[in-house]
Amino acid sequence: MTSTPALYDKFLECSGVSTDTRRIAPDSLFVALKGASFDGNQFAEQALAAGAKYAVVDDPSVASQQPRCLLVEDGLLALQDLARHHRQTLTIPVVGLSGSNGKTTTKELIAAVLSTRFRTYATVGNLNNHIGVPLTILSIRTEGDGPAYEMAVVEMGANHQREIALLCSIAQPTHGLLTNVGKAHLEGFGGIAGVRKGKGELYDYLIETGGTVFINSRDKVLMTMYRERLKTTRSDNTFANVIFYPADEPAGAQIELLSESPVTYRDATGETVTHLPGQYNFDNMLAAMAVGYQFGVTVAEANQAIAAYNPTNNRSQVVLRGSNTVLLDAYNANPSSMAAAIRQFAAMTAPRKVVVLGDMYELGDESAAEHAALGKLIADAKFDLVLLAGKDMKYALESLPTAYYFPDKFSLHNWVMDHPMTDTHFLIKGSRGMGLESVVPFI
Ligand code: ATP
Ligand code: MG
Repeated sequence: MTSTPALYDKFLECSGVSTDTRRIAPDSLFVALKGASFDGNQFAEQALAAGAKYAVVDDPSVASQQPRCLLVEDGLLALQDLARHHRQTLTIPVVGLSGSNGKTTTKELIAAVLSTRFRTYATVGNLNNHIGVPLTILSIRTEGDGPAYEMAVVEMGANHQREIALLCSIAQPTHGLLTNVGKAHLEGFGGIAGVRKGKGELYDYLIETGGTVFINSRDKVLMTMYRERLKTTRSDNTFANVIFYPADEPAGAQIELLSESPVTYRDATGETVTHLPGQYNFDNMLAAMAVGYQFGVTVAEANQAIAAYNPTNNRSQVVLRGSNTVLLDAYNANPSSMAAAIRQFAAMTAPRKVVVLGDMYELGDESAAEHAALGKLIADAKFDLVLLAGKDMKYALESLPTAYYFPDKFSLHNWVMDHPMTDTHFLIKGSRGMGLESVVPFI
């Protein structure tokens, strides 16, 4: 068996880590992982042939056939231990980020703001789970040919208890932020109280380790979670340093939101126009500013970075199609992010507004009730046209007698193609599995 320190020595000889034989970088360390329908051990030889320097495997029969295989007890645990070990060699601050909605957007905004002063490594895309976080940490090289990173921003996703605790043990954040805690992954967490407990593991970790927590003081749920922990930890005075935003902002950053579509705000340095729509994105920006200020980024530098940030990943994008404007938010959806998007769209001024919504996944027993509640919310907002697609969206129909319903997105495509519209604003949103961005070309 290869011990973690021995494995770490091998890792240092390598250019990086990969777990996917379709993307093997030359001289990388391949780690064989097992999934429901595959066993990475079977690809070890292929990975080595494709240029990997070593292959970490947990199948002794594979290891015995290949001299460049490193045998471990369990590939996934070895990957996580390797990342833990690597993190301990890094002396840079790590900002750990979780929450129900807006993690990736906030991560990108924080990285943009910090990058004005520091070489910042941020989670690539959405690599935020028990495999993605170790891979993220192992990508932070502070020596060798590349630039030495001075700071890291790590996104942590979770859909069950103890997951954030595990990810914290790997990323070992010195600073932490929860974007918000709402109704996402209700199924795995065991209801809304379970979500609070699970996400709160980030605060717990920072309390234990004397780290710094950023809290949106306008978010009631986060403030409650903070107070609950304050009560139980104050006596031994080990509570983490807390920075409230926007309250603890520096002089000159007194911010006023001027418009939501797109977010435009004013502070002492002037007016900033951004590329992102919605109050919720303003919250994400305030979070990024708070982190930036803490590390010495000025108000003007933060504003410039936020103004320049333009997403291209189906998350809160504005797409123009002829005389139509499409707010494309098809990257994911859950009850809280749906409600936020619908409220924001309802508040917009537009000649004609159409919502195109797809199923919210992973709601378990709550799914029918949550889709029905969504239907009521949409009915109250009074849009000109409502198009619903997906299995569980039929529950939303109860409150929406004039809505059009499509069991799948293909019948939705056909309908949209047959009913051309002009001078219309569209909101498109649904869970990742629905892939509703495919509707855009038909608009
Ligand atoms: P995932 O769980 O897929 O990693 P995420 O938490 O990283 O998601 P983003 O990808 O940043 O979230 O945003 C997804 C969608 O959530 C956005 O397109 C938007 O609709 C919504 N959203 C973003 N920020 C917020 C927020 N602060 N509050 C509520 N909804 C938000
Ligand atoms: Mg994300």
